[in-house]
Amino acid sequence: MRDLDGRIFLSASDLMRFMGCAHASALDLAHLRGTGPEPREDNEDAALLQKQGDAHEAAHLARLKEAGRTVIEIERSGLGKNAEATRAALAAGVDVVFQGAFLSGKWGGWSDFLERVERPSAFGPFSYEVTDTKLKRRPHPKHVLQLVLYSDLLTEIQGTAPEFAYVELGDGTRATLRLSDYAAYARMAQARLEGFVADPPPTRPIPCADCGLCRWGDHCADGRNLVEEHIL
Ligand code: SF4
Repeated sequence: MRDLDGRIFLSASDLMRFMGCAHASALDLAHLRGTGPEPREDNEDAALLQKQGDAHEAAHLARLKEAGRTVIEIERSGLGKNAEATRAALAAGVDVVFQGAFLSGKWGGWSDFLERVERPSAFGPFSYEVTDTKLKRRPHPKHVLQLVLYSDLLTEIQGTAPEFAYVELGDGTRATLRLSDYAAYARMAQARLEGFVADPPPTRPIPCADCGLCRWGDHCADGRNLVEEHIL
């Protein structure tokens, strides 16, 4: 979640967090508006996971280069500037764009890899599909949210909807997802988050699978205990 010139932009991470715990999104929003608590620093588990994720991503990048594919890496700066550079790289027909950026409507963010396929688009006889790297052994429903979002944003640029998206998994296999199988679910989730941000309902901390790595874990602890006591 970021505020660009007074407008709130949402990312795939925001969407995944919201679908795991709406209270986390409420706290993100309050923090962005300067009315909420401060989040804690990443704990050791989160930092280790991030490090392993970065290494997994770097390994896929190295494999693409070793295979002789031309790669343009978008150096991170402002999201708008990066989105323009991404558009130019895609139009030029490079094999792979690493860290490609999107910004459209209320949504934006940086994808892992955009890989060229020989399927016509507004660019010419080629277009792109989204590949993400994840440490899991199989795709999680949250990954689908990210892949559909970036594929939709990519569609706006290239004028052709990608048919597939991919996850390079932690065990070295590659999962292929047919986007039309998941688009309705992912777009419903996007609409729900947009509605939530426009008019946030009351939320409370309820224990869930995301709590262990959540940056609001310390803040929620007291409230969560209260909820648990109430349930027990
Ligand atoms: S710590 Fe748990 S309950 Fe609190 S915001 Fe994070 S995921 Fe939600």
